Amino acid sequence: DDTAGHASGGYTTTAAAHFVLVPMMAQGHAIPMTDMARLLAEHGAARVSLVVTPVNAARMAGFAAGVEEAGLPVQLVELPFPAAEFGLPDGCENVDMLPSKDLFSNFLLACGALREPFAARLRQQRPPASCIISDMIHSWAGDIARELGVPWLTDIIYRKNLLENLTDDEIVKVSGFPTPLELPKARCPGTLCVPGLKQISDKIYEAETRSDGRIMNSFQEMESLYIESFERTIGKKIWTIGPMCLCHRDSNAMAARGNKASMDDAKCLQWLDSKKPGSVIFVSFGSLSSTDPQQLVELGLGLEASKKPFIWVIKAGKKFPEVEEWLADGFEERVKDRGMIIRGWAPQMMILWHQAIGGFMTHCGWNSTLEGISAGVPMITWPHCSEQFVNEKLVVDHLKIGVEVGVKGVTQWGTEQKEVEVTRTAVETAVSMLMDEGEVAQEIRTRAKDFGMKARRALEEGGSSYNNIKLLIQEMGNKQNASG
Ligand code: UDP
Repeated sequence: DDTAGHASGGYTTTAAAHFVLVPMMAQGHAIPMTDMARLLAEHGAARVSLVVTPVNAARMAGFAAGVEEAGLPVQLVELPFPAAEFGLPDGCENVDMLPSKDLFSNFLLACGALREPFAARLRQQRPPASCIISDMIHSWAGDIARELGVPWLTDIIYRKNLLENLTDDEIVKVSGFPTPLELPKARCPGTLCVPGLKQISDKIYEAETRSDGRIMNSFQEMESLYIESFERTIGKKIWTIGPMCLCHRDSNAMAARGNKASMDDAKCLQWLDSKKPGSVIFVSFGSLSSTDPQQLVELGLGLEASKKPFIWVIKAGKKFPEVEEWLADGFEERVKDRGMIIRGWAPQMMILWHQAIGGFMTHCGWNSTLEGISAGVPMITWPHCSEQFVNEKLVVDHLKIGVEVGVKGVTQWGTEQKEVEVTRTAVETAVSMLMDEGEVAQEIRTRAKDFGMKARRALEEGGSSYNNIKLLIQEMGNKQNASG
């Protein structure tokens, strides 16, 4: 059965390339893989199998319905997840479901146990896989690709820890870029502190040297110099095929992305429709960030003081009852005419693409950063940990499409900072710097819109990312033909 092997976009392949995607089951990793599945399948000469576990498949119901409706050759391949076997609560199949970060190493072991069932499925898969794209955390997918004789690409980059012998405060200088990059070690990528990661990192580094290339959720027009330099450093091909979120074009598809929203999409749109264009600030810190309850209260008071309409996504509800009490004790009432609070999963893309949004206060996770850029929305940066500080530099210093709120410390995932370090005044100042009528704010807005346009063009026919997808499919399809 090779129904997806038709001609498309001015080139032909005799057989469809069959991509098998293996995401890490954390929202910031799984969501872009569903986007990737859609982008590859939409090109017309590729079919895609996306490997998932039952709970994650249920979260992806909106995605599955969308690809089915569009008639795209994408299938979800479900593997049971051995949660209980590895001491995890029943149904705990995603990093955002871990009761504590101490169970992260158990989670990694359970993911590792997917190796054999995955290999068994792939050996029977028809048509056979022509390329495996996996998160680096599943470095075993590389061994299976070799066994099957197909290329293995990865979508997350790990390098042997170059910073191992530095103290947290030591400054790391990255030279060779137009805007010099200098950060204390604690703010550098690769400094995520989670149990179990260090133990498997050597395996990951070692496996990475054998991968056949990288897929990157970025686009040439935004950071070509960095991409070229990175390609030279690793000596492997990089396919930039982003921003992958742009595979969603209507608000229904955007609303269904990642999970079922915890609130009514229509109500949210109605609320946004009632606000002036560019007047609302959207505040969200991704799927995993831990923000101290007192810091959340201070943030809320800053939003109140800014007098701007806002949507604020709070994940801490059950974990921090004191925040809930504070919200109920007058705050929600005081801001009810101009503030919307979303507890739980928000339809982030749908919100960001609404014309009422004029600013995005973000923790600078890569997906959120790229979504802000693609939507042409200027940002207020509030990084917490890991690579988020480098993303802040990209937004503020290099692209100049945002302002810093002024974070000084590092808030590791699962270990909240026990003090307020960003004051309500800092929040209020950042919001007015970004949203007021001043010349600097106008320039930031213009540049942000411009990058949004460049992002869209990259994925239109003939754009850099569009062409890379086409070349990737062609190359993998041809390899398959060559090997018979
Ligand atoms: N997201 C969402 N609704 C939420 C929280 C997150 O749609 O309530 C999406 C967001 O749009 C992004 C992803 O989840 O695509 C989070 O990834 P990111 O890299 O920004 O941060 P992480 O959660 O990995 O820290």
